[in-house]
Amino acid sequence: MDLNFSGEDEAFRQEVRTFVRNSVPPDMARRTRQGVHPSKADLKLWNRILYEKGWSAPHWPNEYGGTGWTPLQIYIFEEECAAADAPFLSYFGLRLIGPLIYTFGSDAQKQRYLDDILSGETFWCQGFSEPSAGSDLAAVKTTAVRDGDHYVINGQKLWTTEAHYADKMFCLARTNPEVKPQKGGLSILMFDMSAPGVTVRPIVTLDGGHSVNEVFLENVRVPAHDLLGAEGQGWDQAKFLLSNERVTNAQVPRSKRDLALLKDIAAHEPAGKGMMLDLPDIRLRIAQLEIDLYGLEWSVLRELFNGHGERSQASASGLKIIGSEIQQRLAELAADLVGAKGLAYHDPAAEQANDQPADAPDYVPGLAARQLFLRAATIYAGTNEIQRGIIAKQVFGM
Ligand SMILES: Cc1cc2nc3c(=O)[nH]c(=O)nc-3n(C[C@H](O)[C@H](O)[C@H](O)COP(=O)(O)OP(=O)(O)OC[C@H]3O[C@@H](n4cnc5c(N)ncnc54)[C@H](O)[C@@H]3O)c2cc1C
Repeated sequence: MDLNFSGEDEAFRQEVRTFVRNSVPPDMARRTRQGVHPSKADLKLWNRILYEKGWSAPHWPNEYGGTGWTPLQIYIFEEECAAADAPFLSYFGLRLIGPLIYTFGSDAQKQRYLDDILSGETFWCQGFSEPSAGSDLAAVKTTAVRDGDHYVINGQKLWTTEAHYADKMFCLARTNPEVKPQKGGLSILMFDMSAPGVTVRPIVTLDGGHSVNEVFLENVRVPAHDLLGAEGQGWDQAKFLLSNERVTNAQVPRSKRDLALLKDIAAHEPAGKGMMLDLPDIRLRIAQLEIDLYGLEWSVLRELFNGHGERSQASASGLKIIGSEIQQRLAELAADLVGAKGLAYHDPAAEQANDQPADAPDYVPGLAARQLFLRAATIYAGTNEIQRGIIAKQVFGM
């Protein structure tokens, strides 16, 4: 198998690189580099720039606004966006509900929602997890009861990322308590976050930032035409979506960018009479990370070269486990390199407000926050223990 990029791929890379590097506003690039949770304004602007170029959803089929690129070209595009410090576009619209709508939705739903997702006009959040239903989504307690031409939703969602930005939620709810959740008891409903009965309460995480929320749903009335697909399809739709989510979470392009930044920090941070990069144990940790990351990248590329980017569930789980652990190790080493300085310059409000400390190198603000936030990488998108369970079942038949 030849894992070299073709001349055509390299020409494509150049075209993407030129556009992306010239288009990401420098202050937005700095915030992304520093690991600040992207603001809604940054997400909207970058989404709009890519939309106008026709590149906001390369992974979507052509007929719905995709680019028609090969999986390998999509990978190159993601690598170039990460290398240029472009923010990762809002995940919930483009990666999750968009594909759900064009796969399961009615023609009217496609017409109503897809273009606004592509352009970044409408922001979405994912209302799946609840206080007693995370890994075990079948335990969802939120109910949606049919009342004429509406459903009435009651319940509580937890850890809802970007609910405070979102215009809409796609929400997993029990529509039929008489049958098992996996056998037609669950459905996905879409509704406005401004609807009466929706309350969003912020959760401030370990890093001091605000990206997740609790959402309370009290007698929220949703028109029946905003139920996705047919009633009772929720379990199959959730499974389709979660396997998409794990694939994306290998995060190789972003980790390659973080590795380059890590080397830069090590080359600039003093240690005794030299630099951090001169210390054998630091060099060893960087080398080990580089070997593991390139191993992961080759596993991803092997699949892209081999076929059409389709992976087995076990393979997607393996990539998610290794990818998330590498993200954590990169962030930990970066924080170790700057030591207490990382904490001294850690001010989430200032980072978000673009307020830079005058006396710290550009790379310091945000490092401590990123390390702390990424503790969650092995939890979200399906915990790594759950992924190991999937591998045990599918590969070893346990
Ligand atoms: C930063 C962040 C953002 C998130 N964003 C969203 C979002 O936008 N929308 C949304 O719906 N959810 C979101 N989540 C929720 C996330 O999907 C859940 O946290 C995750 O699925 C785990 O569920 P839980 O927290 O209920 O933990 P539990 O499921 O209660 O798990 C607790 C522990 O038990 C382990 N465990 C559970 N079951 C098993 C098993 N069968 N085998 C082995 N070990 C097991 C888990 O691995 C974990 O260590 C987010 C979470 C975080 C941290």
